[in-house]
Amino acid sequence: SAKEEGGNTYCFYSSKEAEGDIRKMKLENGLRTAIENEQLTLHYQPVVDLQTSKIIAVEALLRWEHPELGFLSPIEFIPIAEKTGAIIPIGKWVLETACRQVKQWQSIGFHDLSVAVNASIRQVNEKGFPMAVENILHETQLNPRFLDIEITESLMQNDTISGVVFKQLKAIGVKISIDDFGTGYSSLSVLSYLPIDRLKIDRSFVKDMLEHSKTDSIVRTIIDMGNHLDMKLVAEGIEEEEQREALRQYGCHFGQGYLISRPLPASELEVLLREQK
Ligand code: C2E
Ligand code: MG
Ligand code: MG
Ligand code: MG
Repeated sequence: SAKEEGGNTYCFYSSKEAEGDIRKMKLENGLRTAIENEQLTLHYQPVVDLQTSKIIAVEALLRWEHPELGFLSPIEFIPIAEKTGAIIPIGKWVLETACRQVKQWQSIGFHDLSVAVNASIRQVNEKGFPMAVENILHETQLNPRFLDIEITESLMQNDTISGVVFKQLKAIGVKISIDDFGTGYSSLSVLSYLPIDRLKIDRSFVKDMLEHSKTDSIVRTIIDMGNHLDMKLVAEGIEEEEQREALRQYGCHFGQGYLISRPLPASELEVLLREQK
């Protein structure tokens, strides 16, 4: 583009690029005030035990309703929030809201329900992250063993601080999951020295496993490896009964996906919880 070529960028700056930049600016600005303007909500997707089909946990997934642009995907706005630093207060808000909600569900009878919360790279590397987690657990009175922090595998790419942070988190008593496992760049050796409780098999593998025998082999290998390492396995993006059955047979403990349920507002998730009682 003209922009990359430098020189007289003004004349050749396309309207499409300009539109994209305007949208980005709107998102950057909007993110700063999204919490106080009460535009953020969490949806919750059930995670089931593949043997019993019981809901054992929920994953909290962030939703942002922008007054002008409507509902926005976290895939679009999380990277922007990371870049501007807005992810720090937003991440805290997510943790606190999710812990409070699950504590409330526990208190009305769903005693063993856990919650998985996604944490971004920038958030985890921020000084004082483990302390913030500890404070939120204290404030919400949620037992740490019911909180599962999901970190995407790419975090571990030439990252030295994460080992220390992981150990601090383990000392608090929370669980740690590697999200989107298999798509990042980390070497397998990190699995031997980081205190990881769960591997979440990336949706792309689950999606292709029935059609593609090599992908099926990869899925089985991840499950076997996780089991040998005493980790729990969670499959994401289960959309078909045959996928669920194969994963169950291969020894995958837990699963989530549209076949079981889409992410739902808290009130609708509560209906599902009550139905299975
Ligand atoms: P993720 O943590 O891997 O979450 C799973 C994503 O897959 C969610 O997308 C979920 O709605 C979607 N999904 C679940 N089951 C299925 C299925 O059967 N089929 C398909 N096609 N998709 C399925 P969502 O909610 O758009 O979130 C996208 C990503 O944004 C998340 O991926 C996570 O990395 C990030 N994210 C979401 N909430 C937060 C948050 O509070 N903090 C941070 N740092 N990241 C978040
Ligand atoms: Mg996740
Ligand atoms: Mg994932
Ligand atoms: Mg994913």
